[in-house]
Amino acid sequence: MAMIKTPLIIPVFLPHLGCPERCLFCNQKATAKSVPSPQAVREFIDVSLNHFFSHQGEREKQVAFYGGSFTAMDQEDSVSYLKEVRPFLSSRRIDSIRISTRPDALHEKALTILKEYGVKTIEIGAQSMIDEVLIQSKRGHCAEDSVSAILRLKHWGFEVGVHLMIGLPGDTCDYFLRSLDRIIDLKPDFIRIHPALVLKGASLETLWKLGKYSPLTLNEAVKWLKKGILRLERASITVARIGLQTTRELEEHLLAGPFHPALHQLVDSAIFYDMAKYLLRNDPNGPQPVFICHPKDLSALKGQRNGNILGLKNCFNLRDIFVSGNQDIQRGGLVLQTKTGGVGIDRKSLSFFRDLSSHVF
Ligand code: SF4
Repeated sequence: MAMIKTPLIIPVFLPHLGCPERCLFCNQKATAKSVPSPQAVREFIDVSLNHFFSHQGEREKQVAFYGGSFTAMDQEDSVSYLKEVRPFLSSRRIDSIRISTRPDALHEKALTILKEYGVKTIEIGAQSMIDEVLIQSKRGHCAEDSVSAILRLKHWGFEVGVHLMIGLPGDTCDYFLRSLDRIIDLKPDFIRIHPALVLKGASLETLWKLGKYSPLTLNEAVKWLKKGILRLERASITVARIGLQTTRELEEHLLAGPFHPALHQLVDSAIFYDMAKYLLRNDPNGPQPVFICHPKDLSALKGQRNGNILGLKNCFNLRDIFVSGNQDIQRGGLVLQTKTGGVGIDRKSLSFFRDLSSHVF
């Protein structure tokens, strides 16, 4: 699985600051209540460094401006926030800055300012690469804006993250996978994906109440994401996050949709379930098969509340299933023990390989 050495983030939420309009699905009040002043941001960073990050040693520390369209706000305003971080960069208490913004708000002047003030990482909200979905979601930009933004940001030497959403109005699994393929071709440094949720106060709430929009079910979201994650892993693109983080504000605003506090884990478990099923189907090994995976993958293999084990037992009419961890198996791989050694699947290439006896046992 592609992993990124994530920096320690001090998140500053600037709800809707700079946003030219309100996207259909968005209510940043579900993330943070009010916009902090630049002065308050400075105090917040100082407090965070003193209280939460004082024992974090050499790990990179970033201040992140989230929740709005950073480069679409008045230049004076964005600079006033960046200026508050400058003393922390000079004293090396903070290493760099990250911002999130819209793909159509990255003009040359803005990029020059971001470079000048120490911005290293830019996360852009592409959401979908299908114009029909973008129009229905009232994004106000098209897929080509995202292509152009990613290419320019890479050219300027920024670290680039891309946000995609699934289940927006008009979206389909095929559209999502096509969006993903376009983004993969552009080779961003990382991707975040989250399902569209119906939040109190977002325009989507009205459509949902009128019966004109239905969010994905959790099962559907897992199915789409499973396919997406495997593509990203094959392309060695880091998946920084799947699904939104649980916050009190989100819980207060959530009306409907496939929210799960550990969505990435659910998707990983679903992939392990498919791999185990594939192996059992191709190599039935008696009533008590033994699976081996990397120790860190054991809980994903078992599934939440042992769901995978129970499902496989039912599906194949097995007496029991044993699982064991082995450091020699690479993360994401799965081996089914056989009389002659083992058969396994390497999740990244999804190749099926045999004769692992020398490697595994
Ligand atoms: S999705 Fe992004 S651009 Fe749209 S309203 Fe929300 S913060 Fe603003």
